[in-house]
Amino acid sequence: MSLDLDPDARKDMADAAARDGGARKVFIKSFGCQMNVYDAARMADVLAPEGFDETTRVEDADLVILNTCHIRERAAEKVFSELGKLRELKQERAAAGRDTRIAVAGCVAQAEGAEILRRQKAVGLVVGPQNYHRLPDLLRRAETGRGVVDTEFPVEDKFDHIAPARPERTRARGISAFLTIQEGCDKFCTFCVVPYTRGAETSRPAARIIREAEILAEAGVRELTLLGQNVNAWAGVGEDGAVWSLARLARRLAQIPGVLRIRYTTSHPNDMGADLIAAHRADPALMPFLHLPVQSGSDRILAAMNRKHDAAAYVDLVARIRAARPDIALSSDFIVGFPGETERDFEDTLDLIRTIGFASAFSFKYSPRPGTPGADMADQVAEPIKAERLARLQVLLEAQRQDFNRATIGRTFDVLFEKKGRHPGQIAGKSPWLQAVQVDGPEALIGAARLVEITAVGPNSLFGRLLDPHGEARA
Ligand code: SAM
Ligand code: SF4
Repeated sequence: MSLDLDPDARKDMADAAARDGGARKVFIKSFGCQMNVYDAARMADVLAPEGFDETTRVEDADLVILNTCHIRERAAEKVFSELGKLRELKQERAAAGRDTRIAVAGCVAQAEGAEILRRQKAVGLVVGPQNYHRLPDLLRRAETGRGVVDTEFPVEDKFDHIAPARPERTRARGISAFLTIQEGCDKFCTFCVVPYTRGAETSRPAARIIREAEILAEAGVRELTLLGQNVNAWAGVGEDGAVWSLARLARRLAQIPGVLRIRYTTSHPNDMGADLIAAHRADPALMPFLHLPVQSGSDRILAAMNRKHDAAAYVDLVARIRAARPDIALSSDFIVGFPGETERDFEDTLDLIRTIGFASAFSFKYSPRPGTPGADMADQVAEPIKAERLARLQVLLEAQRQDFNRATIGRTFDVLFEKKGRHPGQIAGKSPWLQAVQVDGPEALIGAARLVEITAVGPNSLFGRLLDPHGEARA
């Protein structure tokens, strides 16, 4: 999904105006995390009753929404550069007699607010992540021509006001779907903007999550990834009125007919309760793959980051999780070059990585985010040192990822098939550990889990053969 217009698209634009007389189209481009991907789908749900169909061609869109991310450097500048391109598109469509409305959503909208309207006049609406349920009303207000900004943290929960997606609209979402169960964060890590842009931690009630999961399953979804900034801190009102934990919720979701696999992300180490660890032993629907960010292996840096645990506590936690589910694979996020990080601190991070062994990981250079305590700390690390440390860290993480993938050769496990493969006659799916797997097999198996023996490993995919193409689906 690019915002760059291809030349033919310019030519088509005027024809399109005549062609689809009346139907309005919305193009949503999401940056950043999976929660934004989920939010984009819910924005489409809110706009559908208003007569908006989703399009993947920005040049066809009557409404363009940039769903932005504020986590990393120059996030706002990137948004303004995208908006510059959209302004040109708006002008070209106007010349073809078509109106285009431009909205900015997500965490940059929350952080920059009215500044966006001031700097880019083509924008009609700025809406923060907590207010997507108000989109239809906000768009109507924006029709007056005056820019509208809504970055309040409302008392009502946006999800309570967004009707669950209808199965027929959900069908396009495929075999694996995201489901946000928790938002916001109270932890205030000193590098992070999330507590400011997404607000305080809130958990959706179980009944709503279950209803949404049922709709997704009816529409053919077989794998649910439960989302939250601190997903394992989820504590919601259960169907029985008691407060449930994530372990209890996962057990309930696994009972929904059609749901084969459950994942959850992102977890904070301090919220990894004993019952959730035990659920990994007891519940086969919970996949043996856990994204559990540690950020650093240095106790000094972990304290400065306000992560509220040390390296030994993380190693001990992983040992307990592995005792419950020996085949569990771990992934993490790492930040290098946090203020004050010495070579010794960085070596501690490399040591922790060697101790744990990660199946995959995301790693970033520390980027000072305005308004966070880290940005004002003395001892900011020089850019070349950050770059050099990141390169060394990534060599180690990549070697571990490849070792993990290579270790699957000759092994047999279930693959949940999600789509056609790269070549005719192939189908593609995911291993329990989130690895992409390609096999020769019939398209009829898309949506089913089947035993596969891994025969080869490429840089980004595993290759295997189906052992029981006609067997029962399972995860
Ligand atoms: N809640 C999750 C946790 O506590 O691990 C992470 C949420 S954050 C949206 C995703 C990742 O972005 C973080 O784990 C961190 O590694 C990275 N990140 C956040 N702020 C950053 C910053 N200022 N500079 C570099 N990386 C950052
Ligand atoms: Fe950000 Fe820390 Fe909250 Fe994660 S736990 S969202 S890194 S403040």
